[in-house]
Amino acid sequence: MSENYFKKYPNEKGFFNEYGGAFIPPHLEAEMKKINDAYFSISKSHRFISELRDIRKHYQGRPTPVFHCNRLSEKYGGQIYLKREDLNHTGAHKLNHCMGEALLAKYMGKKKLIAETGAGQHGVALATAAAYFGLECEIHMGEVDIEKEYPNVLRMKILGTKVIPVTHGLKTLKEAVDSAFDAYLEDPVSTLYCIGSVVGPHPFPMMVRDFQRVVGIEARDQFFEMNGELPDNVVACVGGGSNAMGIFSAFLEDEECSLYGIEPAGKSFKTGEHAATMTKGKPGIIHGFKCYTLQDENGDPAPVYSVASGLDYPGVGPEHSMLKDMNKVIYDSISDQEAIDAFFELSRMEGIIPALESAHAVAYALKLAKKYPRQSILVNLSGRGDKDLDFVVDTFGIPE
Ligand SMILES: *Cc1c(COP(=O)(O)O)cnc(C)c1O
Repeated sequence: MSENYFKKYPNEKGFFNEYGGAFIPPHLEAEMKKINDAYFSISKSHRFISELRDIRKHYQGRPTPVFHCNRLSEKYGGQIYLKREDLNHTGAHKLNHCMGEALLAKYMGKKKLIAETGAGQHGVALATAAAYFGLECEIHMGEVDIEKEYPNVLRMKILGTKVIPVTHGLKTLKEAVDSAFDAYLEDPVSTLYCIGSVVGPHPFPMMVRDFQRVVGIEARDQFFEMNGELPDNVVACVGGGSNAMGIFSAFLEDEECSLYGIEPAGKSFKTGEHAATMTKGKPGIIHGFKCYTLQDENGDPAPVYSVASGLDYPGVGPEHSMLKDMNKVIYDSISDQEAIDAFFELSRMEGIIPALESAHAVAYALKLAKKYPRQSILVNLSGRGDKDLDFVVDTFGIPE
């Protein structure tokens, strides 16, 4: 049955029911079709699959463990487990799809990877993949973000990547997307544009999901081996939705598992103070695909905010949009303050400092544990919190 789901979604045009697709200029359409065709033939080849498996094991350090949180479970009730993507090489799940995209580039005979980055996490993961394969890499980043996220700029440069400052408009992610696309279109033959989540025009939402499926496949086996049954609840944070799609994909057919996608409620539900796209948004088109979006009166992407910069996107993956309408996944939100509290709670109770993005999922899991003390909860801990330390301490201080 589960294979049926993956054969059915997306359809050949890249639609997850009404969502997804590719709403892009004709010249780009041809390039996306080439990537799609290459992906379909290459990703099924024995050589590609065995090379990716080898990379996952010997370079990324997979499988990452599933860990039972003894102290948290005792305090909150429930049985709380973490899928430790913070232990994946580079400290987050993003490398799972970046290695896949870069390997595809290699098999397609490309010489160079191009992408934009906001906070720099996708840029660093892609720079890592480029170094591994000996590919050139060019990351477009708004000047404002370059200043804010300087450690990630240094990481990219150390890894041999060229960071291109984007100086027009608001000098943040939106302008960086345009700039990266323009650079890609100058030479689509020898470069591959690499999207950083399950978003963008077809085939990216499908490809990135497929590369992240390893998280769910591992976690389902590991949890079953530990407990002889599947988890009652699976929780993941949702920005674009790649880590959530990765873990959910293995449980979509398990009626006994409830799936929860957690968005950032930020400071409040006023426009510009959150990024709860599915909780508060409505269907629309953004960045070349259809999904739930937060839009202003003119239909432009609304300003969004979250304490976790990896979650502040005014759209969301088309597959999540479909799963919401199907009621297969429950989408809910967690505020900045709740995420910060969970950040310290996990650090102090289990000795694991989570990324602020992941802390949203942890916060929700603690609520579920209180509500359902006899149930098990598997959280995708998408990344580690080292990148957030300065910000958290400067902004919130360290509790007694
Ligand atoms: C980028 C990032 C996210 C959000 O991206 P998704 O595509 O929604 O997974 C979540 N957690 C961490 C640690 C990240 O770096």
